[in-house]
Amino acid sequence: MVDEICYWCGEKAVSMEHVPPKCIFPEDKDVKEIFEGNFRKNLITVPACDLHNLKKSNLDEYLMAILSAKVGNNGLAYVQTKTKLQRSLKRNNNLLDIEKNEVIKIGEKEFPVSWVKLDNEKLKFSLESIARGLYFDENKQNFNGKVLVLSNIFNNKDYPKEMKFNKNSIGLIENERPSWRTVVSGENKKVFTYQFSPIDGFKCQTLILTFFERINIYVILNGMTDVDRERYENHFNFIGKVLWEE
Ligand SMILES: [Zn+2]
Repeated sequence: MVDEICYWCGEKAVSMEHVPPKCIFPEDKDVKEIFEGNFRKNLITVPACDLHNLKKSNLDEYLMAILSAKVGNNGLAYVQTKTKLQRSLKRNNNLLDIEKNEVIKIGEKEFPVSWVKLDNEKLKFSLESIARGLYFDENKQNFNGKVLVLSNIFNNKDYPKEMKFNKNSIGLIENERPSWRTVVSGENKKVFTYQFSPIDGFKCQTLILTFFERINIYVILNGMTDVDRERYENHFNFIGKVLWEE
């Protein structure tokens, strides 16, 4: 780690961090009977300090648990919840904050379902770290601006205004996405892909992270300085109003 700097803060790096964390990618032993292939091809690593290494802070396992256990993911994620996630829960039964367990009946079949209370702050920190890591990998430098993480997984009926903002912002991004004409990257497409937008006139770039072909995370990398912000203030007030509208 000679002279390497942390992908996030620029301090001296002490280890290499996988982005996204390695534990999200299924291990051969868990999936080989059902799925062919290796799901850990050419994983991306970046230098990190201890604070910004998700593995060192044990945030990697929490992110893996939430992402793979999300109902509606692909089959690979399902196998992951039956193998690796079970092992994690056995080691640490406080990993997930389970509000209630239920059995849902569909036709004749019964499916056990757990309602998990999400720690959005923890998740957003982990997702921001992945975005910053990918930015570092792509540009060979730290991202110095502000980061906003949006996703429908954070929707909470108790906060209808925020839900509306989320929905409007994501709709806007998805509308623009076809015009980006940038590559969708990722060597293990069933597990994880990502796509950067071009940088727009307001020094903003959007990064879409997709896990298990279903969960989309939208990260806005806002590279504006305070001077830029003042200059564009009116424009942003306008966009802000539109996004918060009912
Ligand atoms: Zn750091």
